[in-house]
Amino acid sequence: MSGRIPPPPPTVTVDPLGTPNIPIRRVAEARSPIIVGAGPSGLAVAASLHRLSVPSIILERSDGIADLWRHRAYGRLFLHLPKAFCQLPHLAFPAHFPTYPSKADFVQYLHSYAHHFSLHPIFGCTVVAAHFDPAVSLWRVTTVWHHLSGRPVQSNSPSQMSESLSESSRSTSEESVGSSAEPEELLEVVEYVSPWLVVATGENAEPVVPKLKGREEFKGSMLHSSEYKSGKEYKGKRVLVVGCGNSGMDLCLDLCEHGAMPFMSVRSAVHVLPREMFGTSTFGLAMKLLKWLPLRMVDRFLLTVARMVIGNTEKYGLKRPELGPLELKNITGKTPVLDVGALTLIRNGRIQVVNPSSLSLFLPPSQAKFLTISHGQIVLEVESLTSNGAKFVDGREMGYDSVVFATGYRSNVTTWLQDSDFISEGGKPKTPFPHGWKGKNGLYCVGFTGRGLPGASADAIKIALDIAESWKKKYPERKNFVL
Ligand SMILES: Cc1cc2nc3c(=O)[nH]c(=O)nc-3n(C[C@H](O)[C@H](O)[C@H](O)COP(=O)(O)OP(=O)(O)OC[C@H]3O[C@@H](n4cnc5c(N)ncnc54)[C@H](O)[C@@H]3O)c2cc1C
Repeated sequence: MSGRIPPPPPTVTVDPLGTPNIPIRRVAEARSPIIVGAGPSGLAVAASLHRLSVPSIILERSDGIADLWRHRAYGRLFLHLPKAFCQLPHLAFPAHFPTYPSKADFVQYLHSYAHHFSLHPIFGCTVVAAHFDPAVSLWRVTTVWHHLSGRPVQSNSPSQMSESLSESSRSTSEESVGSSAEPEELLEVVEYVSPWLVVATGENAEPVVPKLKGREEFKGSMLHSSEYKSGKEYKGKRVLVVGCGNSGMDLCLDLCEHGAMPFMSVRSAVHVLPREMFGTSTFGLAMKLLKWLPLRMVDRFLLTVARMVIGNTEKYGLKRPELGPLELKNITGKTPVLDVGALTLIRNGRIQVVNPSSLSLFLPPSQAKFLTISHGQIVLEVESLTSNGAKFVDGREMGYDSVVFATGYRSNVTTWLQDSDFISEGGKPKTPFPHGWKGKNGLYCVGFTGRGLPGASADAIKIALDIAESWKKKYPERKNFVL
């Protein structure tokens, strides 16, 4: 890269706070690839580049690495897949780790990983816009830098930032430009430029909460699973858990173990499989079988064994989808639930499943009385929240002290990356697996294949090799380069 970088076009000037625009203060020219996100995917790319002697810059909005695992995951979280599948490239998990490492184990591993490969992300640095500038063949990445002295670093999510960004772009007058750049705001807008941009902000960047009517009326506590820490504070409480994926099941189990009464609202069909079959992990077994057998045959095998081990889940209100678990995952990205104990509690009635085939209904806590109603009378979908519970679409009401939305997450890439050719409306690469890791003009995406940590590691290795190749051509003078 040579010559002076021309100033960015005016459209890149951002206002992340909804106040008048803060002009870009600095332009940081990078000879290294820029990686957005210091979760497992971003770290895996940076480590793989480091092994090839290619430096990188990691920009992370949070106050440390692996924000999802440190701040947005519940206490009882264990990796759903065995450790052999979850370790990142070039560094194995310590031998003493259990087969299914806990959240704390995994965070510890990620810290050692960053240390081992000398990775030093820039924290408190939210990427709010990025576009390729053809005039200089560089990516221009606009960041808002939160100086971390005593301020929450994520007071605004990038999507909120982008919303206020577009609003302010409409309303900003010349007069107001620069007036908000008070030093006490501890904010700085920095533009990084580089020939390579790696998107590693994850499929779980922002929580998804359904827009239910009556949310303001509900007097109990209401939160997303990313804010749930432990069932301790729910002892004796009736808690509606909306969603029946791995998180919903884990939360119900945790609530039960802490003496709460969880009710799981199930909207769609779901595959529940035992975490292990024949003493080995179901995931590992499926991977082995797929080497020899067609996918549908493996699906049939998994479902037959699942029925033998955990019984007919439909009896407990968990209807199975028509497609098999692996085929469904491939087509829709929907992950099967790997049961770690919730199913036994559902079977024993300690977790109530609220869906059309439920046979029981609880009245509000004030009239704590059990009713039996006929099959099919309770509808699964919450229509609205009421002051003391939820109303279902058949008009019936149930009382709850708290509602937890285990309703998943979404990508935030479309809120900041301007490349609609490569990125879909859902914020993931449009190109289907396994080719979505590489876009045009030095753009890469890691961790968007719906294949968890194993998928992220596979992407990371390919991306690092590809970048290293072009980095080597661009900077042949760098002697310590290994490919
Ligand atoms: C509860 C839960 C349990 C899971 N368990 C497993 C499991 O057992 N096995 C498995 O394989 N997968 C699991 N997953 C999936 C899991 O999310 C990933 O495998 C893993 O965390 C993906 O890593 P990532 O780096 O792609 O994304 P993330 O871990 O989400 O990291 C993305 C990083 O980007 C940062 N970021 C986002 N936007 C910006 C921005 N605009 N500017 C700067 N930084 C930004 C975030 O703060 C974050 O640190 C689980 C997910 C959840 C929610």
